[in-house]
Amino acid sequence: MDDSTYCCDAYLEGPEGETLCGQPTMFGVERTAVDMPLHVCPDHLGSILMHADRIAWPPIISWDGPGERPQNALSLEQVRELDDQFFKGRGAR
Ligand SMILES: [Zn+2]
Repeated sequence: MDDSTYCCDAYLEGPEGETLCGQPTMFGVERTAVDMPLHVCPDHLGSILMHADRIAWPPIISWDGPGERPQNALSLEQVRELDDQFFKGRGAR
């Protein structure tokens, strides 16, 4: 998705605010009984999880930013490979 497609749905003043953040969205957060996820910037991901209505738990978060995932994040395959390497190293001691 092009990151200019959505702007952050959070309000600068908090949940009852009136001024939308407007930063490019990086995350989509699923809600229950609502068709559209909330789209939020990195600065508002935590506050949306804590304060928005109808957030699914555990959270279901999609990546809206460029590429497949955040720059520092690993794929599940990479995580499994690193875990395997870690546990093999521990077993050899
Ligand atoms: Zn924001």
